Amino acid sequence: MEQPEIKVNHIETKSVMTKSNTPIGGYSVNPYVGCPHACKYCYASFMKRFTGHTEEWGTFMDVKDWPEIKNPKKYAGQKVIIGTVTDGYNPLEKTYKNTRRLLEELKDSGADILICTKSDLVLRDLDLLKEINENSRLTVSWSINTLDALYQR
Ligand code: SF4
Repeated sequence: MEQPEIKVNHIETKSVMTKSNTPIGGYSVNPYVGCPHACKYCYASFMKRFTGHTEEWGTFMDVKDWPEIKNPKKYAGQKVIIGTVTDGYNPLEKTYKNTRRLLEELKDSGADILICTKSDLVLRDLDLLKEINENSRLTVSWSINTLDALYQR
């Protein structure tokens, strides 16, 4: 299937760390707005409302630029979920490396980091992930989706 062209914007944010309102608590961290995977069932398309995008979900990406996380230890013991409304290892990460940058900033934080992805691009950062695992708790949650009813039990 041909991939749609992705419109890329660069945006500045005050912080990349967003306090989560979910029962899990902690922080939801998304280095991008939008997600080129464009999963049919995506719950994250509600982000269009908050970010002024009128394009179809999956056809735009905002690449965030944030001030460096100055005091990563502040997040020690906190749950930090990377990729709640995007996939940090979407194909544009190959170019922009925002997720890698984020992990570098958090690597000595002592945070309880969970990365949610559908992409094997996460393997590119294995060196960094091993390093993080020594100082923090790290989980990589990797999912595969399918429209095949056989697997929908
Ligand atoms: S990978 Fe996640 S955020 Fe991206 S389109 Fe699919 S469900 Fe949405």
